[in-house]
Amino acid sequence: MNKLVLNFKSKESKKIKNSKNYLGGKGANLSEMGRMGLPVPPGFTISTKVCEIFYQNKKKLNSKLLGEIKKELKIIEKDVSKKFGDLKNPLLLSVRSGARVSMPGMMDTILNLGLNDKTVVSLAKKTSNGRFAKDSYRRFIQMYGNVVMGVENYHFEELIENYKLTKGVLLDTDLDEDDWDGLIKDFKKVVKEKTKKDFPQNVYQQLFGAINAVFLSWESNRAKVYRKLNQIPSEWGTAVNVQSMVFGNMGSDCATGVVFTRNPSDGSNDIYGEYLINAQGEDVVAGTRTPQYITKKARLDAKVNELSMQETMPEVYKELFKILKKLEKHYKDMQDVEFTVENNKLWILQTRSGKRTAKSAVKIAVDMVKEKLISKKEAVLRIDPNSLDTLLHPTLDEKSSIEVIANGLPASPGAASGKVVFTSEEAERLNDMMQDVILVRLETSPEDIQGMHAAKGILTARGGMTSHAAVVARGMGRPCVSGSSEIDINYEQKIFKTSSKEIKEGDIITIDGSTGRIILGNVPTVKPEISGDFSKLMSWADNIRKLKVRTNSETPLDTKTARDFGAEGIGLCRTEHMFFDEERILSVREMILSKTQEDREKALKKLLPHQKKDFKEIFKIMHGLPVTVRLLDPPLHEFLPKSQKEISEVASVVGANIKEVESRIEELHEQNPMLGHRGCRLGISFPEIYEMQCRAIFEALCDLKNDKQKFAYPEIMIPLVSTEAEIKIMKNLVINTARKVQDENKIKIEFLVGTMIELPRAAIKAKDIAKHAEFFSFGTNDLTQTTFGISRDDSGKFLNDYIENKIFKVDPFVSIDEGVKDLVKIAVEKGKKQNKNIKLGICGEHGGDPKSINFCSKVGLNYVSCSPYRVPIARLAAAQAEIKK
Ligand code: ADP
Ligand code: MG
Ligand code: MG
Repeated sequence: MNKLVLNFKSKESKKIKNSKNYLGGKGANLSEMGRMGLPVPPGFTISTKVCEIFYQNKKKLNSKLLGEIKKELKIIEKDVSKKFGDLKNPLLLSVRSGARVSMPGMMDTILNLGLNDKTVVSLAKKTSNGRFAKDSYRRFIQMYGNVVMGVENYHFEELIENYKLTKGVLLDTDLDEDDWDGLIKDFKKVVKEKTKKDFPQNVYQQLFGAINAVFLSWESNRAKVYRKLNQIPSEWGTAVNVQSMVFGNMGSDCATGVVFTRNPSDGSNDIYGEYLINAQGEDVVAGTRTPQYITKKARLDAKVNELSMQETMPEVYKELFKILKKLEKHYKDMQDVEFTVENNKLWILQTRSGKRTAKSAVKIAVDMVKEKLISKKEAVLRIDPNSLDTLLHPTLDEKSSIEVIANGLPASPGAASGKVVFTSEEAERLNDMMQDVILVRLETSPEDIQGMHAAKGILTARGGMTSHAAVVARGMGRPCVSGSSEIDINYEQKIFKTSSKEIKEGDIITIDGSTGRIILGNVPTVKPEISGDFSKLMSWADNIRKLKVRTNSETPLDTKTARDFGAEGIGLCRTEHMFFDEERILSVREMILSKTQEDREKALKKLLPHQKKDFKEIFKIMHGLPVTVRLLDPPLHEFLPKSQKEISEVASVVGANIKEVESRIEELHEQNPMLGHRGCRLGISFPEIYEMQCRAIFEALCDLKNDKQKFAYPEIMIPLVSTEAEIKIMKNLVINTARKVQDENKIKIEFLVGTMIELPRAAIKAKDIAKHAEFFSFGTNDLTQTTFGISRDDSGKFLNDYIENKIFKVDPFVSIDEGVKDLVKIAVEKGKKQNKNIKLGICGEHGGDPKSINFCSKVGLNYVSCSPYRVPIARLAAAQAEIKK
């Protein structure tokens, strides 16, 4: 077994396979940087394995482990020539959590551990800097008091604010040694009052208390919520990093900062970040002081006067720059780096692959191929297909007139409109009611994660481009404008003011995360184009993938959009959607309410020209590509009139009285319509409906051919088949109608007839069905419903319980379930056995889900079909599936 506690420099950590799993992301990278010879303060990692043991051992650290930790401490002490708890030259430590993947919601880092009433005096003497020593001690009490002892942070903040008020100063930096001394006493009093315990003076008690707290935080509510949203398994556990402190708060030749090796928002190859002089730890991201830029260029671009690090600390900047380049070369990816400068000496405290917008991810991947850092395949694998969503979604229509009421930082791109809310709870509440909201906060914290998730966009008054709000919003793909000092928020009155306007809760605003604009009201949006780097990346993906990508579409607009996005045909054209149009619904109702075949045929005749017209347009747009048209599928009651007004309208059209119509509606009522008279069952009972639809399809094609227009290849699809006899009868109906229309027009049209596989029986009896089907299209929405016997529309009520109890890992309607996969596999195998040329596709919602696409590729389908805006996502996912094969 591996050692449980590993020094950053230990040779052993190099040998550990999947070191991130064992040491956590932060620990693995700290030790890797150590081996690269970068200036990393000495320290060690307590592995994730210990977290597991901790929970098996009734949440206690065993004594053997404590011994190992003490041994490792000795090594650090020797390294830095300081001693833990020493009265001459005390060693201070930071205790940092570190899971496999970076996880906001985990324990906050504790800095300056090892200070107590005595060591603080030694530190002051040793550094001849009393203010620094006291500031560090009060920070430590605050952090430890909060994180380990559970005293709410506002108690401490309030004390500081009061102190500043009495003194008549604005900034923490205006407080001197004596002020901090006074506050230290008050802080300790608060701790005692709230916890009934003294603030621990024993440094080992401090250390073990902190390590304990990191492990406990793995099961905190915040962490659980984050894990659930990001599908992180709870077995992973966290590691703990213990590291000697370096100080960015010792004076004006000290600083702390965060920097990306490339621009995380647009991907340009310039380092980008923020720093603060004379500051420590999270000061940069906390939003209490406004940080300054790292590079002169960024400062000038932002039109800011406060000097950049490049200007204030040119030598240190140069060294930082070199290290960033080295890190990028080493990791072959854009890095997010945390550093501290202590008396002009640079220390690197963390590196990880940087969160970025989809736009920047695409640019960086394409650039890195040009720079020969990565291959095209790697570039294709780098992009999370789902993240493309943000590039495909509408942006503000610059032609529309807008009223900009304030500006902030363009923290996460994209446009979002919605009602203003000031709390995460309200955001969630309205989101549950299908309303779009913009979450407006002074700043956000990990408690806001769910609210941010529920919001369409996020606006904050404080914090920079690396603030919590900015980083989390980019990760979630939510548009975000951060640090807008032009807005003045009042939580109590639920309003925010700008220089010109007062916005109340519930008012609608739009934020533009790409420019930082805050705009009054709703703003129209436009469809984006795939061009530049994006289209280059997509062309690499297209060269790799074998799986075709089609779209689900039944309107000319969607069909055009999908073709522009690269769709290679239509996998599902739902004819019933064409029925809902205001003009047509009356004829549809007439048709349904008809008692005799004769009456029904009369109504169908009225519908024929409408359907024909729709088909013509769609076939034209998809010329040269296949279009799968599904014949009428839903239960008829969906079209029935509901209100009294509608009923009397229909009554007059069909020449019946209201009573008669109502009794016909009563007759058509079904207990369980999803399992009732629908799909090909309609075609069996009322063949004239399917005949009309086929006639519309083939007449449309003949017209196009006559007009010498280019058109699509039709594939006629029979829904809800479960038996061989059904498909046989329906296929004959289609062929006979097609033949009739072709003879009438003296034109020959090639077409296929096939079926959906959306019932378990159809999958199991696929061999028989394949005798009469030229293609199978897996309707995995219904197949999932009927496999589980769960109605998708009603599953919302209990789905959460199923996920919480780990019965479902994910919603089976989002990612295809194992059982449903088995049915698909059976059907593919049996279908091919009967007809080795059978065409195979999927048209359920799963066709746009990358995980499910991976399955489709493996099981040997020919194509997936998804909604128009997911077409590029599916193209990329299909390429990734091919590479992973
Ligand atoms: P997070 O996971 O939230 O990023 P970190 O463990 O990286 O938390 O700690 C947050 C910040 O605390 C760091 O960015 C750094 O500024 C400060 N910090 C952590 N360890 C040290 C250290 N050894 N010396 C000085 N500052 C530190
Ligand atoms: Mg943190
Ligand atoms: Mg960090």
